[in-house]
Amino acid sequence: MTLVNEHYLKLKAGYLFPEIGRRVQAFAAANPQAKILRLGIGDVTRPLPPAVVKAMHRAVEEMGRVETFRGYGPEQGYRFLIDQIVQHDYQVRGVSLDPDEVFVSDGAKCDCGNIQEIFAVENTVALADPVYPVYLDTNVMAGRTGPADDQGRYGRIHYMPCTEGNRFLPDLPKGKVDLIYLCFPNNPTGAVAEREHLQVWVEYARKERAILLYDSAYEAFITQGHIPHSIYEIPGAKECAVEFRSFSKTAGFTGTRCAYTVVPKTVFAHTTDGKPVSLNQLWNRRQTTKFNGVSYPVQAAAAAVYSEEGKPQVRAIIDYYMENARIICDTLSPAGFTVYGGVNAPYVWLKAPRGMSSWDFFDLLLTQAHVVGTPGSGFGPSGEGFFRLSAFGHRDHTEEAVARIRNAASP
Ligand SMILES: *Cc1c(COP(=O)(O)O)cnc(C)c1O
Repeated sequence: MTLVNEHYLKLKAGYLFPEIGRRVQAFAAANPQAKILRLGIGDVTRPLPPAVVKAMHRAVEEMGRVETFRGYGPEQGYRFLIDQIVQHDYQVRGVSLDPDEVFVSDGAKCDCGNIQEIFAVENTVALADPVYPVYLDTNVMAGRTGPADDQGRYGRIHYMPCTEGNRFLPDLPKGKVDLIYLCFPNNPTGAVAEREHLQVWVEYARKERAILLYDSAYEAFITQGHIPHSIYEIPGAKECAVEFRSFSKTAGFTGTRCAYTVVPKTVFAHTTDGKPVSLNQLWNRRQTTKFNGVSYPVQAAAAAVYSEEGKPQVRAIIDYYMENARIICDTLSPAGFTVYGGVNAPYVWLKAPRGMSSWDFFDLLLTQAHVVGTPGSGFGPSGEGFFRLSAFGHRDHTEEAVARIRNAASP
């Protein structure tokens, strides 16, 4: 008899997006004339920039000629891409990285999900609430949690509530935790961490010999100069942090797939008898065993993001989304809504008016404004009473959607 990994059975059914789909479909069936606008999705809408498309075309042509054909590439990624990453994403911010501290991959979702397997199952995991579900579910699958309670909280997970009270910035745990997931700019709240906040986390991690798993998939959306883009801008972080980045939201790669993870050679975890082990070595072993690299045309396309032609094109995409975010905030805020985020992140975290629950507000917007957003409670119990609006939509849809929200649902 073959046994299954029963930890999978502890997972809550992927409830949020199917439930949104179900409610939208039911409403659309009953109201076929309604033009429904979606500000709920976490996917982008702007196409790949021309410089990226050109580089991908060129690479595909190379693959079709015997003189320039390439087979398996390095599992860690091609140097032509890694060198661009090291220079343009880190050197310019005063962070020096070795090329072999950067691991190119097909997504930050996989890397955030896979990284936990190089750590012991006994480690205690700390997560923000609300949270990007990948960090939680992958630790449930690995057996690092107990079962979930009625509220969906798993045993052995240390939840860090992010509320208006702490400006959506997680507080340090009272006790000791080992693996700490942080995401700034944050999905779903749009919050960013200042240098001082991150410094506190780096000091905690170094004191407790904990590891920070820092997701900065949205760093390109930071507009305020004093907000750090990388955890490595904080002194000491290269001794305790792994960082995840992605081309998905920045350059339209959600369907093309390219990302990278930084694992400095100076980050160590320990064996039970206290011997230090290099995470860079373990991650390299993991990747070379289980991953065969990102396709050459995709890495060539990603490298074009850093070219003289590509840079302003990518900047224009980000500016487009951040103008959407501004429109959302500048329409809803004067109408009496309480809004957070949207300044250094492509998400606006809207407080449901009059103490409504996230799902009641969802139903109100769907039926009265024909607008779809994401109920905050779907990201964790502390998201209750909030609502995520995404700035990744088309401009005219965004403008119309927020005007409808203002007219139909203002406090
Ligand atoms: C979108 C997103 C990512 C990027 O995932 P990819 O697999 O690279 O597309 C990573 N982290 C968060 C929090 C995200 O929202």
